[in-house]
Amino acid sequence: MTAETPIDEALLRANPLPRHSQGDDKNARGTVLVAGGCREVPGAILLAGLAALRAGAGRLQMGIGSSLGPSLGLAMPESRVVGLPETEEGMIHPSAAPSLARFAARADAMVLGPGMPASPEASQLTEALLDALPAGSEGPALVLDAATLGDLRQQREALRRHAGRIVITPHDGEMARLLDTERQAVLADPLSAAREAASLLHLVVVMKGGCTHVVTPDGAAWSCDRGDVGLATSGSGDVLAGLVGALLARGATPLQAALWGVYAHAEAGRKLARLQGPIGFLARELPPEFPAILASLA
Ligand code: AMP
Ligand code: MG
Repeated sequence: MTAETPIDEALLRANPLPRHSQGDDKNARGTVLVAGGCREVPGAILLAGLAALRAGAGRLQMGIGSSLGPSLGLAMPESRVVGLPETEEGMIHPSAAPSLARFAARADAMVLGPGMPASPEASQLTEALLDALPAGSEGPALVLDAATLGDLRQQREALRRHAGRIVITPHDGEMARLLDTERQAVLADPLSAAREAASLLHLVVVMKGGCTHVVTPDGAAWSCDRGDVGLATSGSGDVLAGLVGALLARGATPLQAALWGVYAHAEAGRKLARLQGPIGFLARELPPEFPAILASLA
């Protein structure tokens, strides 16, 4: 296997994001649908949505259990909120997958998972959605995060329909469940775990941690260790998922969105660490840093 390439400014400048012109309307910068949440964690969707808009997506839609819809809509006035049938915990019910897929078909990218409790229903919803979504360029590009990842190995058929359109963003515990192994094994060699998942599932893996690895199905790998420890904070991964989703909606490829997203997330953490101190900044403070960071690399 070839060595990892560092994710740095030179790499990103050599792989520029699609340009948007002054005459573009909001549709030209893409629509992101962020879906997930539950009654105990409704804010994860908010963080992902905030990140998506701050990363330049033109329009934001949010899908969540119906009881949470009105408060989410008020908390994020820039979004359109779609309330869906829900489970007892307030998570989108698996039977709502066809409705969710209809909204998703009109989006350029979809982020599924932030704030969803790890549960059989989360896996059922993920599988039903993968089945119901239009495939290829007819459907949205996808970011799968958190509770959607546990049973992905059983969903290889459904994933294959969306080959070349998916990024997954596991941390070590989620990767361990995905590969049916121990968390310690993933921590001991996260790059190998990421390579195994990328080749097994044919998608781009963002293996999160103190050093984050981005891996494609052919085993090519990039790494970013620029993130400060302050990034290890509640909601930080939800922000990353929304950021990557926005870059996909803006027309980046899955690999490009992963590389740019991981770098911009780390840079935002560095900036906040400089301003506030190394730990204690909030996940919700990361997105306001994105416009300047992304513009500085354009
Ligand atoms: P999550 O666990 O889903 O909230 O994601 C945590 C985010 O914080 C990921 O983007 C990780 O890469 C990042 N992260 C976690 N621990 C560290 C660390 N020690 N140094 C830098 N970044 C970290
Ligand atoms: Mg997470």
